[in-house]
Amino acid sequence: MSCDFIELANPGVQRLHPYQAGKPIEELQRELGLTHIVKLASNENPMGPSPAVIEACRAELAEIIRYPDSNGFELKAALAAKLNVAPAQLTLGNGSNDLIDLIAKVFLGPDTSGIYSQYGFAIYALAIQACNARGISVPARNWGHDLQAMAAAVEEDTRLIYVANPNNPTGTAVGREELLAFLRQVPASVVVVIDEAYTEYVEDPDFPNAIELLEQFPNLVVFRTFSKAYGLAGLRVGYSVSSPQLADLLNRVRAPFNVSSVALAAAVAALGDDDYLERSRALNREGMQQLIRGCEEQGIPYIPSLGNFLTIEVGPDAGNLYQRLLREGVIVRPLAPYQMPNHLRVSIGLPEENAFFLDALKRVR
Ligand SMILES: *Cc1c(COP(=O)(O)O)cnc(C)c1O
Repeated sequence: MSCDFIELANPGVQRLHPYQAGKPIEELQRELGLTHIVKLASNENPMGPSPAVIEACRAELAEIIRYPDSNGFELKAALAAKLNVAPAQLTLGNGSNDLIDLIAKVFLGPDTSGIYSQYGFAIYALAIQACNARGISVPARNWGHDLQAMAAAVEEDTRLIYVANPNNPTGTAVGREELLAFLRQVPASVVVVIDEAYTEYVEDPDFPNAIELLEQFPNLVVFRTFSKAYGLAGLRVGYSVSSPQLADLLNRVRAPFNVSSVALAAAVAALGDDDYLERSRALNREGMQQLIRGCEEQGIPYIPSLGNFLTIEVGPDAGNLYQRLLREGVIVRPLAPYQMPNHLRVSIGLPEENAFFLDALKRVR
């Protein structure tokens, strides 16, 4: 007789619905046999990898029989110098997604709660639930984080608050004063994660760099990633900056070799390639303008975004529109899993990819 393992799984996992990732290009190719496919679904860097990164990866391949440096000495040294923090404040992750899970593992369990925003990054709710903790979803304000309400939502058993700044999938951001007021209000015993996955793209002078607030707020943890502006999504590297004590706790639950040797080498090379980062930003700035202009021409409202994606409001037909776009060879992200059934999220691509999307959109609407 076979066992019902669902019954035996830990209760948080029993109720878990897995994250729905963007559709891979190869999957659409298999399904529809299309030859030209444009993927604007996972906020990846459209530019292709930095030549310096390719070279670093190639050199590292000769060493792949060895385990990676478990402490990521070289990458931490490079990050510490760049960010003006101590290496002991850094924790490396298999993407920042890894860190989202690790911080939950450190602080959450039964009889605790974690807070996130209604349209906040979906992984937060999953990380909380996987730890058998209670998730508290706080209603959004103008699609973004309502920090005041999030601070007010803290309960006796709350250990952790996740804030994405800018947020994915809405592109909204909180300003410096708003963030400071929030951090002053949150009890010093509640850990606040500021997830800055898109920070490299932000050009708004009022946008806060949470790393600068670490000394003032020891309960703060800042997450960043090499997946977006640095163009390393496939290699999986992210990092957190915190007090050495919080870094020590993260390090206790981290798998010893959670970042591969090739990924470590690539991240060091990426950090050194300022030109790539600058070109990433410029391409994103222009692509954002292109998409905004195209949407305005087609009369489509959008949520102003500080990230490398634009969330557009196409109405209750969004699910069908997503399907029709697939048949045109365009993959975007439907937001029904975020309870935003009228919206699609479109990553900024190369100019020709953005144009291909806008043309397809015009045809299928
Ligand atoms: C893309 C993204 C991440 C980064 O994920 P990685 O695991 O580093 O690839 C983290 N947070 C948010 C809000 C994101 O959109």
